[in-house]
Amino acid sequence: MKLIADLHTHTIASTHAYATVTEMAHEASQLGLFALAITDHARTMPGAPGPFYFESLGLLPEYLQGVRLLRGIEANICDYDGNIDVEASLQQQLDWIVASMHTITLDGKATVEKCTNAYLKLAENPNVNVIGHSGSEYFKYDYDKVIPVFAKNGKLVEINDSAFRYGRDYVGNCVTIAKLCKKYGARICVDTDAHFTNTLGRAYNTLEMLEDIDFPEKLIVNTSVENLKAYFDEKNISY
Ligand SMILES: [Zn+2]
Ligand SMILES: [Zn+2]
Repeated sequence: MKLIADLHTHTIASTHAYATVTEMAHEASQLGLFALAITDHARTMPGAPGPFYFESLGLLPEYLQGVRLLRGIEANICDYDGNIDVEASLQQQLDWIVASMHTITLDGKATVEKCTNAYLKLAENPNVNVIGHSGSEYFKYDYDKVIPVFAKNGKLVEINDSAFRYGRDYVGNCVTIAKLCKKYGARICVDTDAHFTNTLGRAYNTLEMLEDIDFPEKLIVNTSVENLKAYFDEKNISY
């Protein structure tokens, strides 16, 4: 299996990432990717750009260097009711929303019950495409209760390759989540969360893990152009 799109990446706009949109698109083009989602951090992450940056993303062309550029954001799930730090009007304007929990933007008093509630509520937000790196050890949730709801509501459960790159202790959670996505028929996306060009599109560890557990390719939206286009059609995303 091979990635045909990277659906969670950052640029210098995040201020702790180091390549421009043009450089990221160039790298994606060199790798032969069909699509690239630029998803800089939303406003409550320290150093993140303000709403005007995201409101202006429409200035970017739909295709850059032959790659479909999704104008997106990585929203912070900012409370345990599943709210995100992106205005409703901006949510509707963007092509692509990854919503994630981060220790830096959510209080440290997470419990399985609170995170389960947050994800169940988040699953009802029609503008959210991807549930970002939910394998975090800090924000464990009731996988068996929530993953079927992600499946039912068409949310893409992200398996984030950075867990493997940094040898983080939540690799085991990612495997468990992937197995449950297979069991409940939840679609997934495999992303790098690249903060520079050198990791973009290179999710080798995750792809190997998915092969090991015999994960069905029909449930992965970004290893086949056909699967991704089908998802875009469903969500009225042009290409
Ligand atoms: Zn970041
Ligand atoms: Zn993140």
